[in-house]
Amino acid sequence: MQTNWKIGTLFGIPLFLDPLWFVILGLATLNFGVAYQEWGSAIAWSAGLIMALLLFGSVLLHELGHSLAARSQGIKVNSITLFLFGGIAAIEEESKTPGKAFQVAIAGPLVSVGLFFLLSLVAIVIPDTSPVSMMVGDLARINLVVALFNLIPGLPLDGGQVLKAALWKVTGDRFQAVHWAAKSGQILGYAAIALGFAVDFFTRELALGLWIALLGWFGLRNANTYDRVTTLQETLLKMVASDALTRDYRVVDADQTLRAFADSYLLDSAAPQVYFAASDGRYRGMVAIDDLRLVERSEWETRTLQSIVHPLTEIPTVTESTSMAEVINKLENEQLPRITVLSPAGAVAGVIDRGDIVSAVAQKLNIQFTDVEIKRIKEEGSYPPGLQLGVIAKSTVN
Ligand SMILES: [Zn+2]
Repeated sequence: MQTNWKIGTLFGIPLFLDPLWFVILGLATLNFGVAYQEWGSAIAWSAGLIMALLLFGSVLLHELGHSLAARSQGIKVNSITLFLFGGIAAIEEESKTPGKAFQVAIAGPLVSVGLFFLLSLVAIVIPDTSPVSMMVGDLARINLVVALFNLIPGLPLDGGQVLKAALWKVTGDRFQAVHWAAKSGQILGYAAIALGFAVDFFTRELALGLWIALLGWFGLRNANTYDRVTTLQETLLKMVASDALTRDYRVVDADQTLRAFADSYLLDSAAPQVYFAASDGRYRGMVAIDDLRLVERSEWETRTLQSIVHPLTEIPTVTESTSMAEVINKLENEQLPRITVLSPAGAVAGVIDRGDIVSAVAQKLNIQFTDVEIKRIKEEGSYPPGLQLGVIAKSTVN
């Protein structure tokens, strides 16, 4: 994904190009160039390249349709990328209602259909013997194909998004709707792969068959991703802080001097990183090791931990019943290494860091992570590439 080239900005949305997109540019130029040979080779190839670029513009306008519809609902659009199989608008979160989700899904095909009618009209007006008229007519048909292809009812296609919105409206369950629309996408993906091989087997159209199979494979992979992300979103909403908290902290006496605390814990490399100070059976607050260094050494003998603690009411906390999605969002939004979990009585129930969350979620979903991997997540304080819980939690709670 990092290899995409940024080629500009449209309505404040960064525009990226996947280098593989040039394969499409080449194929489209070839396709139209060959078709226009009657105009003489120089004009034919130039016209072919122009058509390829207009195809690019058509796909871009289609994605802009989705993007502007999302933005009108206050949803951020992170980028538009053109790649081997068309375009994709990276829309940050789901619409609030099925009706609004439908609007975002249908906006792209509507733009393409609109372009089809507009260009068809222009083609009629221009004298029909001219190359321009033929090109405009071809471009009109391309836009119709883009619209119809995208309306095939399976994720990741727009038709799948429409199906999802409809099922969401009927069942009232967005997650179930995505699962079904993804299932439809998976079936269509397998069907396209089978069709591609059949075309290769029974006809001489090897490239066409391969292309259909490749499209099917791409669709299948994306449908699987939708399914997986939705399962994760559901899981993050169902799990709560108490499912992931650990007791990887120590409670120390708030009345001891800084010197006594430093002597007993700071030299011990095996000691936990988190300390809570308590006295008279009550939590007084969290001890930040860095605060100790701000106090003059000469005062270490007289000052107590109580004087430097951060009361529980002033540090970032969640309760045991806070959803995992909210816990993750709080860690990300406030850039915290870990967060304190409070019991209903206001006592410390535990602490949670990113490693604890990955460990708990992985266990719930039967995903394998080794202790070494969890330890690394804890140290680096970032989610593993295959389980970007920060991004998923953000899209879950909006
Ligand atoms: Zn679309």
